[in-house]
Amino acid sequence: QKLTSQETIALEEKHGAHNYHPLPVVLKRGEGVYVWDIEDKQYYDFLSAYSAVNQGHCHPAIVGAMSKQAETLTLTSRAFHNDMLGKYEAYTTDYFQFDKLLPMNTGAEAVETAIKIARKWAYEKKGVPEHEAQIIVCENNFHGRTTTIISFSNDEGARKNFGPYTPGFIKIPYDDIDALKRALVENKNIAGFLVEPIQGEAGVFTPASDFLMKAKALCKANNTLFIADEIQTGIARTGALLAVCGNCTCKGHCERQETYSRPDILILGKALSGGAYPVSAVLADDDVMNVIKPGQHGSTFGGNPVASAVAMAALNVVKDEKLAQNARVLGELFRSKLNEYITESKIVNLVRGRGLLNAILINDTEDSSTAWDICMALKENGLLAKPTHGNIIRFAPPLVMTEDQLLDCVAIIVKTLKQF
Ligand code: PLP
Repeated sequence: QKLTSQETIALEEKHGAHNYHPLPVVLKRGEGVYVWDIEDKQYYDFLSAYSAVNQGHCHPAIVGAMSKQAETLTLTSRAFHNDMLGKYEAYTTDYFQFDKLLPMNTGAEAVETAIKIARKWAYEKKGVPEHEAQIIVCENNFHGRTTTIISFSNDEGARKNFGPYTPGFIKIPYDDIDALKRALVENKNIAGFLVEPIQGEAGVFTPASDFLMKAKALCKANNTLFIADEIQTGIARTGALLAVCGNCTCKGHCERQETYSRPDILILGKALSGGAYPVSAVLADDDVMNVIKPGQHGSTFGGNPVASAVAMAALNVVKDEKLAQNARVLGELFRSKLNEYITESKIVNLVRGRGLLNAILINDTEDSSTAWDICMALKENGLLAKPTHGNIIRFAPPLVMTEDQLLDCVAIIVKTLKQF
């Protein structure tokens, strides 16, 4: 039975938990930078499933690898070996230049994994007294939705009535190197500094260009792990393989320039699978990763053969199609075109971001509904985006976009903004 968009939304409303507030559009198909709704209206996807679909919707190389593996072997659990996991781990550790990878499924799981590794490292390698390990995090962070992770969030909606909260986290302002220094000096039991290289959910807050380098140096000087959550910023989104690559001029794959703030623990998710399958991972070198022993951490699905095949294909697309380069070039074009418009705009104050992770700030109060209304109008005009935090709209299209498509999108965005 064929349902309309309205009927489909009504089903979710009645039978699904109300834990999201989606734009009222029901998508049934995607290809590259486009998605189609039930009524066959075509849209540019300007969210990319929160930067998971960097390689574009239904990329044939990724879907091909997935269906081939799905017909062969899907899951063994880690009770046995499978013939894909070792290949995936070798490929990915070589790709990102770390000794080891721990495979998980979702972003939040990978963040939890990094926290566990950092704490264990602190007790066993740094000599922190038992139960005393602290992790420094940033205000307005977003690292996921588990009980421990929301414990160190300052988003009241995410926290309220979910306590008691997990202790062991110290919050400092984002992009405040002096606050980090103070926190590291005041407490000798710091296991790690967990940071988003750009705060995506908070509204694409880009720190000072030397913040990550300085933070990394401070962590090193204080024998503390520098932990980068690149779940949203990683895998070419910001115009380099990783946002911690800084201004590295890699050609779609990082060449390890001196601007690289190499994390002690790197957390990846989302685009690690190109959005085809839930795949996340934690990467670290032996001196850190080897604190984890059999039975101390795991997941039934983590490292399964389908995930392994999909992730290798997805990473290969990033390199083959030079997506980091494309994101960098198109990102500059996007911001310069929007800046031209903003000089005469009454509704937009600012465009900011790096590569193809950008946001505009609507000239309105934070709790206004204008950003939502603009996203509804963008939808009518054939482009899908979503407000993040009140008056901020994030723009993050798939990285396989062409220049012509991007200019078409800029025209849609400007035309829409002029309606307000
Ligand atoms: N960390 C960051 C920086 C994210 O942007 C997200 C998701 O948006 C997560 C963690 C959580 O990932 P997941 O939703 O897959 O659990």
